[in-house]
Amino acid sequence: MESESLVSIYHRFGVEPIINACGSVTRLGGAPMPDEVLEAFRQASEVSVSLEQLQAAASRKIAEHTGTEAGLVTSGAAGALTLGAAAILARHDLRRMEQLPHCDSFPHEFIIAREQRSGYDHAVRASGARLVEVGFNEIVSNAGVRRTEAWEYAAAINEHTAGIVYVHAADSEPALSEVVKVALQREIPILVDAAGEVPPRSNLKAIAATGADLVAYSGGKAIRGPQSTGMLCGKRELISSAALQMLDMDDHGQLWEPPADLIDLTMFDGIPRHGIGRSLKVSKEEIIALLTALELFSCGAYDVQNHEYRRWLEQIAEELERENANAVCSLVIPECSERWPLLEIQIEEDKVGTAFDVCRKLREGTPAVYVGHARLHAGLLTINPLCLKADQVSVLAQRLCELLK
Ligand SMILES: *Cc1c(COP(=O)(O)O)cnc(C)c1O
Repeated sequence: MESESLVSIYHRFGVEPIINACGSVTRLGGAPMPDEVLEAFRQASEVSVSLEQLQAAASRKIAEHTGTEAGLVTSGAAGALTLGAAAILARHDLRRMEQLPHCDSFPHEFIIAREQRSGYDHAVRASGARLVEVGFNEIVSNAGVRRTEAWEYAAAINEHTAGIVYVHAADSEPALSEVVKVALQREIPILVDAAGEVPPRSNLKAIAATGADLVAYSGGKAIRGPQSTGMLCGKRELISSAALQMLDMDDHGQLWEPPADLIDLTMFDGIPRHGIGRSLKVSKEEIIALLTALELFSCGAYDVQNHEYRRWLEQIAEELERENANAVCSLVIPECSERWPLLEIQIEEDKVGTAFDVCRKLREGTPAVYVGHARLHAGLLTINPLCLKADQVSVLAQRLCELLK
């Protein structure tokens, strides 16, 4: 049953490839890079360039696509959150840069809604920032009806406050614009986690247009750059602090001339040594590959694939129906035409075992198949076509049929 595309370089190293019907998740290697992106990566490796010149060029490109003043290619959205928090904490204070993540002697609290906390807030705390929660999570705890409200952010601001962290989602409350209003009134910078908030590609501009100071995106999700990349964009002053804390600083002060639009040295009283972001470096190849992917994503080059994805999902649903599988398939077509469709498979757990059992058996087979697992508790498997290859579709359908008959 092994398909051609599964004979791969990974076998040389004793690793068995899988069928990924789960989407761009990090644990399965992220989104597929288009050929143009891979070719850009290869070409970028052929010569050397100055990384600060390259990040300055990236800054201009990211600024253009996001409508912001400046940007930086980072190590994922997580790296962007650490750098963004470090920039807000240290600004242009070289002593503070040197001290991070120790920041007891200056304002270091970031306000966050309790309902927006997740494992990713490690990335913010890695800078030294301490999170201060506001609001409750009453709806999840089934103990109330209200979500976090803007006044709660305002009420929590004090002399220890350095910034606000906001995790953007289509249904985040309060709306980002309301929190930005509080932040502007009190002159507190706001860092937005928008890792997976594109598509729609209009969000690249819309989120920053609320007036948020810094916005973090993943490069390895829908943008389809290298899995390890991300972007931080926003106010030039903060991006320049982030860049200074990330770049390799092993040069002489009297020789070093970074591009002024990325790092305006007149704002600093010297040049620091390696900063807290030195461990979040990105390579020249990753930068070029991400910028290439950003151009493709921004011009809608990926949209046509959504038709093919839909045909694949319909094929899987038809085969399950033809085989009388103990399951009901629903094709989920997103309202936003830039988003790809999904296939939800509601399994009859009394006949085939729980969705967890089916999911485990799919992973245990050869090749291992990983399906979307967000709604297993509801007896639902999700098929996300983003990382599938055309020749894997029938293998996937066959495996599902075997387990659901
Ligand atoms: C994916 C994600 C991240 C991390 O993004 P990386 O690019 O993998 O570092 C952070 N926050 C949220 C909300 C995410 O969905």
